[in-house]
Amino acid sequence: MPDDLFFDQTVPDVHQPYVAAPDRYTHLGYRRVGDSGLLLPPISLGLWWNFGDNRPFDLQREVLRFAFDQGITHFDLANNYGPPHGAAEENFGRVLRTDFRPYRNELIVSTKAGWPQWPGPYGDFGSAKYLRASLDESLARLQTDYVDVFYSHRVDSSTPIEETIGALDAAVRQGKALYVGISSYSAERTERAIAVARELHTPLVIHQPAYSLLNRWVEHGLLDVLGRSGLGAIAFTPLAQGLLTNRCLQQGQVHASGGRTTLSDADLTAENLERLQRLADVATRRGQTLAQLAIAWLLHNDRVTSVLLGASTVQQLAENLQAVHNTGFTEAELAEIDEITAADAGVNIWAQSSDL
Ligand code: NAP
Repeated sequence: MPDDLFFDQTVPDVHQPYVAAPDRYTHLGYRRVGDSGLLLPPISLGLWWNFGDNRPFDLQREVLRFAFDQGITHFDLANNYGPPHGAAEENFGRVLRTDFRPYRNELIVSTKAGWPQWPGPYGDFGSAKYLRASLDESLARLQTDYVDVFYSHRVDSSTPIEETIGALDAAVRQGKALYVGISSYSAERTERAIAVARELHTPLVIHQPAYSLLNRWVEHGLLDVLGRSGLGAIAFTPLAQGLLTNRCLQQGQVHASGGRTTLSDADLTAENLERLQRLADVATRRGQTLAQLAIAWLLHNDRVTSVLLGASTVQQLAENLQAVHNTGFTEAELAEIDEITAADAGVNIWAQSSDL
């Protein structure tokens, strides 16, 4: 990391009662989710890996407190985040009770269902039976009456899309979700989902696709559909699960911190290492770290409402947040980045579940 970059990395003292930082809304600015009334921070925090029962609760609490103090109002969960499944919702629910309860109206909490959650035919994909039962379980774990966004987590090509969107709609009618979203749906399936939602008057306002410098599939149609239809986009795995960081480049390993990802060191092919090095060179010229470049490049695109990243430490989050201060790119920089990232990096493990 360049020496001249300073990040406020003051780790919150979790042994003190929590009072949110009074200046928390002065750092980030907020972006509108498509044509909806909802605003999100440019950087949102996802709880996929680092909020399970395998990580000390105090560490989780530090990151969550720090995030909110910096103006991150959006926390993204799913029924299966952990480990074990459900643990991230339980742990976040604990923090919601102990620290964030007075601030519930300032938070956007999302959850999802769609990946396998319990045995048998009713705990997977996109049936009304699964989505309804899963949301009830999520609300119990989160200890909240409603989530702000409830997502269909993945494509289900066997269930009629009317049923899946109908189940999301029912969650809103029942007061269990304020808005709904879809994740990893292809451009074509997104158009069909939007058509059904329009008929039902369902507040389908957001799509959550994988999108990063190493995975640009959304540029081949999906972002146009979202733009035309007035939906927002929140980009998940913006750092390609940690590949797009100086740490990964310096250590030549995916799992430098012992954190868990679905990628392996085999994904650090010679071609990908070269790409990362060239992107890091662009970042250095811009006075950024590689992670900051990866986030800033996504935010440069006004079709992207928010960048949904993961972080295992306050230090990582502090570094990443700094990206919002430098999101302008010259034409030459964009052209260079396009050239570096033109070939597929092979890290979109969600391609199959998106119907791509
Ligand atoms: P990511 O932001 O691409 O990767 C996050 C990981 O990168 C961190 O856990 C950390 O690894 C490492 N990292 C972050 N900042 C760093 C820094 N400054 N320096 C060094 N390493 C750094 O995102 P992700 O965790 O894969 O996914 C983010 C969120 O997207 C998830 O939590 C979830 O909410 C959402 N998501 C959604 C779907 C879906 O199907 N809708 C799928 C996947 C993810 P270590 O933990 O090893 O330190």
